[in-house]
Amino acid sequence: MKIITRFAPSPTGYLHIGNIRTALYSWLFARKNKGKFILRIENTDFKRSKTIFIKNIIDTLQWLNIDWDEGPYLQSERINRYNSIISKMLHNKKAYKCYCSKQELEKNKKKQIMHGEKIKYNGNCRNNKLINNKKLPYTIRLRIPKNKHITFIDTIRGKIKFNNNELDDFIIQRTDGIPTYNFCVVIDDWDMKITNIIRGEEHINNTPKQIHIINAIGANIPIYTHVSIITDKSGKKISKRDNNFDILKYKKNGYLAITLLNYILRLGWSYGNKEIFSQEEMKKLFNLKNLNKSSSIFDINKLNWLNKHYLSKLSKDDMINYLKKICITNNINVNNGPKLKDLYKIFHKRCNSINEINNLFFIFYKNPDYKNIILIKNYLNIKTKKILKTFKKKLVNINIWSIESINNVLKKIIFILNISLKEVAMTLRVAITGLKNSPPINYIIYLMGKKKIVFHIKNAINFIKFNI
Ligand code: GLU
Ligand code: ZN
Repeated sequence: MKIITRFAPSPTGYLHIGNIRTALYSWLFARKNKGKFILRIENTDFKRSKTIFIKNIIDTLQWLNIDWDEGPYLQSERINRYNSIISKMLHNKKAYKCYCSKQELEKNKKKQIMHGEKIKYNGNCRNNKLINNKKLPYTIRLRIPKNKHITFIDTIRGKIKFNNNELDDFIIQRTDGIPTYNFCVVIDDWDMKITNIIRGEEHINNTPKQIHIINAIGANIPIYTHVSIITDKSGKKISKRDNNFDILKYKKNGYLAITLLNYILRLGWSYGNKEIFSQEEMKKLFNLKNLNKSSSIFDINKLNWLNKHYLSKLSKDDMINYLKKICITNNINVNNGPKLKDLYKIFHKRCNSINEINNLFFIFYKNPDYKNIILIKNYLNIKTKKILKTFKKKLVNINIWSIESINNVLKKIIFILNISLKEVAMTLRVAITGLKNSPPINYIIYLMGKKKIVFHIKNAINFIKFNI
C-alpha cells in the first residue's frame, strides 16, 4: 500500500516549531517510503482563520524545502462535500438533528455539575422521531454506539482504549450549517486516502471521536502517531500564541533552513548519537520507531550551536549570499557601507552566535544607538570626548587609508593623551558601534571608511554635548 501522509495546519497563527515538526515527520515518512505528502489547510474556523497565516504556512514550508505532492487543499472549499455526507448520515440514522436550545443544554449541564457527573449531552433528541419537521434551528449530532469501546494503535504509545460511554453524541454540524472540526478532518483523510496520521499529542483526545465518525461512514482507520509535546525551559508547553516560536522569525534572524530542519528533526527523534543530517540523510534514515515518548525541551543554545556549525561550513560565495539575504529580510541597504565580500572575513572567524553576527553586521550599515546605559556612562563622557576629538583631528589628516595609518593614529593618541590602548579602543568602539564587543576596532574603522567614521565620531561628540 502506498503511504500517504498530510500536514493539516489551521491558519490561526504563525507556524511554530511544534507544527513544523509534525510537517517534517509526515513529509519524511512519506519520502522515506516513496509515498505521497499532502498539504491541507484546516480553515473552517472562519473567525480565527486568516489569509496571512496561510501565506505563512506556505512560505515556511518553502523556506525549509519541504515540498508537497498535492494541495494546498482548503477545507473552506469543501463544505458541500462534508454536508452531502452528513445528509446521508441523517438518512441512514448514523446522525440525528438536535433541537435542544442553548438554555436547555445549559440547564442539563448545571444539573450534571450539581450531581458531580461528567458533563455530556443527555441524548434528548437521539430517539425523538416526532420533532424532525420542526422549523427550529438545530445542530446535527453523531449517534455513538452505546456500551462499547474503541481501540486504536498509536505507534508511539501502543494500544489505546476508549470507552464509548466517556463520550457523548457530539455535534458534527453547527446551527449555521458548517460542519465541525473533527468531522472535516475525517472526511478529508478519507477522501485523500491518508494512511498515516502524524500529529501533535494534543489531538489524542480527538482520535476516538474521529474514529467514531470513521466507523459511521465505513472508512478505514489510519495508523496514528501522536508526537509528544515540546516545552520551553520552564516546562510550559509552547503555543501558537507565543511569537518566539514563529519559524520565519528564525529566517529573519539569520538561521539557516538546514539548521532548523536538523534541530527540529532531533527534537523528538534520534538516530543513535548522530546530530548532523543532510536533507537526503533525513529522508533515508527517518522512521517512526525512534520517536520519543517523553516531551522535548526547546533549547536555543543547541539551535545556536547547530547554526554555528552550518555557518562555518559555508563557502565564501554561500556566506556572501547568506549575508545578502539577511540584508534583504532586514531592509538593509548594502550601498551604505562596505562591500559584503570584504565583510566575509570578519564573519567567517566570528560566527559564535547568530545574534552576534546580526549585531555586528548591522553596525556597518546602520547608525549606532547609544542605548546601553553602562557603556555610555563609561565611554561617552566628558573625559572620553577629548579622545574622540583628537582622534577625529588626526583621522582627517590621513592621506593613505590603510590599517597601518589607522594604527599610527591610535598610537599617537595613546602617546599624546597618555592613556591605555584599551581606553582608546573601547571609546572608539562604543562611539562607532554602540557595542561592548566587536572585531578589532582598527579593522572596523578601515572597512567603514573615513567619511563614515568621521560621521559617527561627530555624532558621538554631539551626543556627549547634549546628553551628558
Ligand atoms: N488542524 C490541526 C492543527 O493545526 C491539525 C489536525 C490534524 O493533524 O489532525 O492542530
Ligand atoms: Zn437535543
